[in-house]
Amino acid sequence: MSDLAERLRLVQARIEAAATLHGRKAHELTLVVVSKFHPAQLVLDLMALGVNNFGENRDQEAKPKAQAVSENLGKFEAPNWHFVGQLQSNKARSVLSYSKTIHSLDRLSLLKELAKIGQTANVFIELNLTDDQNRGGVAPKDLEFFAETVLQVEHLNLLGVMGVAALNRDPSIDFETIQKCSLQLQKLSPTSTAISAGMSADYEKAIGFGATHLRIGTAITGNRA
Ligand SMILES: *Cc1c(COP(=O)(O)O)cnc(C)c1O
Repeated sequence: MSDLAERLRLVQARIEAAATLHGRKAHELTLVVVSKFHPAQLVLDLMALGVNNFGENRDQEAKPKAQAVSENLGKFEAPNWHFVGQLQSNKARSVLSYSKTIHSLDRLSLLKELAKIGQTANVFIELNLTDDQNRGGVAPKDLEFFAETVLQVEHLNLLGVMGVAALNRDPSIDFETIQKCSLQLQKLSPTSTAISAGMSADYEKAIGFGATHLRIGTAITGNRA
């Protein structure tokens, strides 16, 4: 087995084990392999190993990569591209040309831009789990109001909430907040049940707090090229 295949299998085994531990079903979890800093070939190699969800955080890098992948699909179906990074409004149209799922809907100005573009897309509301107002994301106390506004845009399908755990404390604290926010959101929108949480260092913990979309980079891809 290649190193890449071995890392993928190890992460998949750990996802299975964590799901079992927490009484959840591994097949209900979506593994999004974050392929940033890595070339299109790595995406194609992972597709050959059965991965079909990829995450990127910069349009400048993602767009040509998605293009290169689409030109070299061979027998494979096009993968799903998830946009997980902060999205500048002036890049939104470009991102929607290859990605149908935005994990980082984090502010009203971006929502307005997506509304204006009018294209169907899946979105997660990104939460700001810090006290720093300058960080991207919607503060938990503002979630309800923001979600009401998102729900008014008919062509956006609100999947759920997304969060990145702070580095300087136990990620469980933030995952618990994300889970509470998810329950709050489901009162307004019962179908918005998804939780995008968990990265290489903390995905097993995230599974314990209801994560449905795991955004895992280096644990699978190795260090950046
Ligand atoms: C890079 C990135 C990830 C993956 O991080 P790893 O630690 O490499 O698993 C997940 N989510 C976001 C938003 C990222 O930018």
